[in-house]
Amino acid sequence: MNSDCLFCRIVAGELPADEVHREDGILAFKDIHPVADTHVLVIPERHIEDLRHLRLEDAGLWLRLTQVANEVADDLGHEDGYRFYVSVGSAGGQTVPHLHIHVMAGSMRRLPV
Ligand code: AMP
Ligand code: ZN
Repeated sequence: MNSDCLFCRIVAGELPADEVHREDGILAFKDIHPVADTHVLVIPERHIEDLRHLRLEDAGLWLRLTQVANEVADDLGHEDGYRFYVSVGSAGGQTVPHLHIHVMAGSMRRLPV
């Protein structure tokens, strides 16, 4: 855990989050500033800064993160589809340096640029 990291602190229960799914190694919770009817973040519990820091040994973790994104979308009634995106690095729009997948569905008020 990185105690300076917002999402590590959510994983640790030090900060509140509206959790929609938790399993060994993975947490999904609602984005605090939703820009779609459904806007959930799926994160590894382990601190991984961004997609560039994933290693080959993390292949199973990455696959499972994508499956959880699918399952969250399904569970929230979006079997017809959803937007999946990951920002990488500050120049890529990443504001929280702990890997997260955005799951957005339904009416979207602002599309990511
Ligand atoms: P990104 O800009 O791609 O790094 O996404 C970071 C996301 O985290 C943004 O959509 C924020 O609204 C969201 N966020 C920031 N702080 C919190 C928090 N405490 N709980 C839930 N979501 C958060
Ligand atoms: Zn972290």
